[in-house]
Amino acid sequence: MTIQLYHMKKLFIIANWKSNKTVKETEKWLHDFDDGVKGGKTRVGGKKVIVASSFVSLEHARYCMRNLKLSVESAAQDISPFDKGAYTGEVNGAQIKEFANYVIVGHSERRKNFGEDDDMVAKKIEMAMKHSLIPILCISNLDQVQSSRFKIQSYDNRIILAYEPLFAIGSGQADTPQNAESVAAKIKEIVNDTPVLYGGSVTSLNVNSFTKMPSIDGVLVGGASLNPLEFLEIVKNA
Ligand code: PEP
Repeated sequence: MTIQLYHMKKLFIIANWKSNKTVKETEKWLHDFDDGVKGGKTRVGGKKVIVASSFVSLEHARYCMRNLKLSVESAAQDISPFDKGAYTGEVNGAQIKEFANYVIVGHSERRKNFGEDDDMVAKKIEMAMKHSLIPILCISNLDQVQSSRFKIQSYDNRIILAYEPLFAIGSGQADTPQNAESVAAKIKEIVNDTPVLYGGSVTSLNVNSFTKMPSIDGVLVGGASLNPLEFLEIVKNA
């Protein structure tokens, strides 16, 4: 008799709200999501569901998640490249760590609109690691993986990578699952054992075509995560 062992991967389903939602709207989203979870008896626990709200919502998001006993964790969307001190407007790793265990780093919108380069991204990864935050490092091509390779490996791969091709972000035009799989597999050749997510126009209708691919460990969802019931469908269908 042959016994087949199926290696079940734990999927990451991460919402990136970008610069959206007030504290009140954050509370409503979490309550609506929770109603959907409990109403549909959805098991969210089998997947790692993470919501990246804006800094001002992080504290209340954590309060609501605990109060509702929701199996959802928080991420910040950015981190200061410096520790505490005279850096007006920045939010440092120690401040984030009070409310979240994850932080998105190097999102293409930060590279494009705020001039972040690979050096800045490397400093942010370092700060995340220093404060025991798991970085979710966004990359839009393999060159960016190569340039962060040593940083990623020096942290024993305690990092999550999100492959987000520029043309797919916010465009409604997702990459093909085959191409995303091929890039994810190449990323894993460069940095072994690192979870690789796909991001770019993911919806409840296409999510499974990505998450069923062997090298893809989950999704990073922007626009479609703003609606709690659509995001819940994404979690269910992944
Ligand atoms: C993103 O910006 O990380 C993203 C994936 O956006 P969207 O899902 O809206 O394409």
